[in-house]
Amino acid sequence: MGFRILVIEDEDEIADFVVRGLREEGYAVERAADGEEGWHHLKSAAWDVVLLDWWLPGTDGLGLLRRFRQAGHGTPVLMLTARDAVSDRVRGLDGGADDYLCKPFAFEELLARVRVLARRQAQATGTKLISGDVTADLATQRVERAGQPLDLTAKEYALLVFFLRHPGEVLGRTRIYEHVWDERYDGLSNTLEVHVMEVRKKLEARGPRLIHTLRNRGYRFGGEAGGEA
Ligand code: CA
Repeated sequence: MGFRILVIEDEDEIADFVVRGLREEGYAVERAADGEEGWHHLKSAAWDVVLLDWWLPGTDGLGLLRRFRQAGHGTPVLMLTARDAVSDRVRGLDGGADDYLCKPFAFEELLARVRVLARRQAQATGTKLISGDVTADLATQRVERAGQPLDLTAKEYALLVFFLRHPGEVLGRTRIYEHVWDERYDGLSNTLEVHVMEVRKKLEARGPRLIHTLRNRGYRFGGEAGGEA
């Protein structure tokens, strides 16, 4: 998957809407529903962007943010809040927030701000995945092969990024499916095969085959074509 986003939000309706929307855009998203769970997620994994609600049961968002910054984490944090008084905004920014979004907000605006933070983070860390002549810029979600841009859907992009993160590895269908689609794989759906075909077609317009089918085992990105079914 591309960028990893943590959503710390106690209101189910807002969290579901945000999580679903971001996943549809190809981001890998996890949600925490209160301050304690949020802190657990913050310290137990690396995130590219954090969306943090101000009012949370347990430790509130601002307290969580201060703790996170004091622990030395520079991950961009976007505060979500119903509070829009200037003094609150200043407290949030002083507490280490990178940006601020007042509820209710349009998903498009959230997405635009996430992109800005993701781009900034990628520039800071230089986050590009490169394998042979294929490059994926995780901030802009731009993919190139042999210097030519590829036009991928969100799922095709997420699938290709998963392959780029595991070059040369044998990847079982269940593992790929559950990462990219965030759902249980029933072993019957041909969604994965269809997407692999599409990504292949687009990649192969610019060069030789990269996604190899391994009989009864899954797929492998790059390496020798041996074992192809
Ligand atoms: Ca809340």
